[in-house]
Amino acid sequence: MIEFRSVSKRFPDGTLAVDDFSLLIPSRRITVFVGSSGSGKTTLLRMINRMVDPTAGQVVIDDTDVSGSDPVQLRRSIGYVMQNGGLLPHRRIVDNVATVPLLRGTSKAEARTRALELLDTVGLDRSLADKYPRQLSGGQQQRVGVARALAADPNILLMDEPFGAVDPIVRVELQNELKRLQRDLDKTVVFVTHDIDEAFTLGDQVVVFKTGGIVAQVGTPAEILAHPADDFVASFIGADR
Ligand code: ATP
Repeated sequence: MIEFRSVSKRFPDGTLAVDDFSLLIPSRRITVFVGSSGSGKTTLLRMINRMVDPTAGQVVIDDTDVSGSDPVQLRRSIGYVMQNGGLLPHRRIVDNVATVPLLRGTSKAEARTRALELLDTVGLDRSLADKYPRQLSGGQQQRVGVARALAADPNILLMDEPFGAVDPIVRVELQNELKRLQRDLDKTVVFVTHDIDEAFTLGDQVVVFKTGGIVAQVGTPAEILAHPADDFVASFIGADR
């Protein structure tokens, strides 16, 4: 379980991105952060792997406060997927996927075998292994991004608008694939999106944010659809109240 305990974040320029936020994120489920631009979703996601540290409060993973963990080790043990896949442009696909295992001291041959298996896992043909990212479509690159994040066999997968840049048909394919992966691999997924349909498709738990890092509602898609908490949520999900 991931726990946000009264976390706040004020950036050095004075911006208060998150103000006294608390939430429980259950293990082995998909939790989706959805809401307006600038509402603090990415800032919160990045607190989980210490890309951002809170100015107040704690982030706790399985009863351990992350502030006591080494940030580099933590980032190697938590998968992170971002919008453009975050691939290294001058490295072949297989080497992109093998990066973390190699950093952890796995032999080259073993890391390659593992990377090829991960390409299978995310539904990519092994013939792509020796190509470069620019030779792949946007959807394929995103799949590589997911494979790369899974390479360290993390329990937690953080995904920041991972499917934002792909066309709608591929996006639905990727969403289905992610649901399958989550079921098969039993990961805790925290997923950020602007898209309420995507949030309802993927989320076991959905957190709707208002501007200013305020949570408007937390619930299952069915609960939110049946009982939007306020006018903001109702208009965000396109429902009548
Ligand atoms: P989006 O959906 O547009 O990505 P978001 O909900 O993920 O937005 P954040 O990126 O977390 O929102 O940003 C929250 C607020 O903090 C915004 O007002 C943003 O401008 C501000 N912010 C984010 N990063 C920094 C930073 N490094 N320095 C100063 N302000 C920042």
